[in-house]
Amino acid sequence: MAITRFAPSPTGYLHIGGLRTALYSYLWARKTKGEFKLRIEDTDTQRNNQDALQAIIKAFDWVGMEYDGEEVYQSKRMDIYEKYIQQLLDEGKAYKCYMSREELDALRERQMANKENPRYDGRYRDFSGTPPEGIDPVVRIKAPLEGKIEFNDGVKGAMSFENNTVDDFVIARSNGVPTYNFVVTVDDALMGMTEVIRGDDHLINTPKQIIIYNALGFDLPKFAHVPMINNPQGKKLSKRDGAMDVMDYKNLGYLPEALLNFLVRLGWSNGDQEIFSMEEMLELFDPKNINKSASSYNEEKLLWLNSHYIKNVSNERLSKELEFFDCKLENNDKKDLLLDLCKDRAQTLVELKTAIEKFVNKPTTYEKKGSKKFVKEGTFEMLNNYMNLIEENKETLIAASDFENITKPFIEKYELKFPQIFQPIRISLTGSTQAPSVYDIIAILGIDETCRRIRTAIEKNFDKETI
Ligand code: GLU
Repeated sequence: MAITRFAPSPTGYLHIGGLRTALYSYLWARKTKGEFKLRIEDTDTQRNNQDALQAIIKAFDWVGMEYDGEEVYQSKRMDIYEKYIQQLLDEGKAYKCYMSREELDALRERQMANKENPRYDGRYRDFSGTPPEGIDPVVRIKAPLEGKIEFNDGVKGAMSFENNTVDDFVIARSNGVPTYNFVVTVDDALMGMTEVIRGDDHLINTPKQIIIYNALGFDLPKFAHVPMINNPQGKKLSKRDGAMDVMDYKNLGYLPEALLNFLVRLGWSNGDQEIFSMEEMLELFDPKNINKSASSYNEEKLLWLNSHYIKNVSNERLSKELEFFDCKLENNDKKDLLLDLCKDRAQTLVELKTAIEKFVNKPTTYEKKGSKKFVKEGTFEMLNNYMNLIEENKETLIAASDFENITKPFIEKYELKFPQIFQPIRISLTGSTQAPSVYDIIAILGIDETCRRIRTAIEKNFDKETI
């Protein structure tokens, strides 16, 4: 039973890298019938942003990843951290350091000049004299001076860090505010985390956090550090490549299941399977199959997955999703026909909306090139004959196949080539030659609307770009 968490700092939007680690933590908790928590790391009051916080919560809601219990806010837990800092001071595992900023800078400069890594030199570690006046001390932990910190990372395997590479780092600043590594550790321990799954940009923090776990006598969780998502050129993902706010994906017309499917595969695999429903992810996900190397963002694949889900979710669901784009279909009695016709070609909900509106709204322009090419002498008469034919047989014509059956003999009788009849009708009905099967369009519009649009096109002589 895994207890996992996602722990964003609300200093900026939630991007897909964050959502991916959250997804992995979520899947593992749900699969093992454990718990998944959301902890807001908001101790940096200067950089916190209320909008970012709301965007994170909204994004979780949109993708349907429910967390257990209320969000945990670090800013509300300061007294807990203070208590543990005091405990370490009382036990002699941490100490107050009175080094001034000038002294620290001077030490750093000296070390750099000697080509050494800048590190605190432990001068207050065993200090028992009278503290210098006028200095608010920081609290530093007594890091082990020798030996190694070893742990088995769930993704990266055996990890080992020499203790002498970690100095006595600060756990509480001079204003009493505990530092990042300290609060993360205390919270992960008190919230009962069994696995900490996070981006491998945090790997450098793990030895420090292990020192804190050990000093406080807490059990270590298992760590799994997930490699980054790069752009197709192997560089850090930028906003242009897709490192956008998760909610931007909603605005661009992605379905949440497509985004989650995309993210689960971006760094994890199960053979060569590409399509994963949430049920399958829950059945198959295991952090031990997370890739060891960075993955590469591929927009084509996201679009491909999105079109897969657009084709496969119910029409009911699609019309609900389209409402967000101000495309309302609930009162349209041809809703299913419309969606069935348009969803096959749409890669995003925005494209789906555009395709639908092309049918629902009368054309506002006629394609000039198409009209010139396909509207010839005789076209108007042919269109009039065709309108008469379908109007006369109105009662029996409903489905696209009915129109096909009645149109074929008409084509033969007048010895027409397909583009001679279909392109002028397409242009009349949609304004463009780039439209699906004429039979489908007529079935959706119905005979009255079809004839109205053809008559308008004839009246306007097809030659106005704007009507
Ligand atoms: N708050 C950290 C971040 O947003 C994550 C800390 C963690 O997962 O341990 O990057």
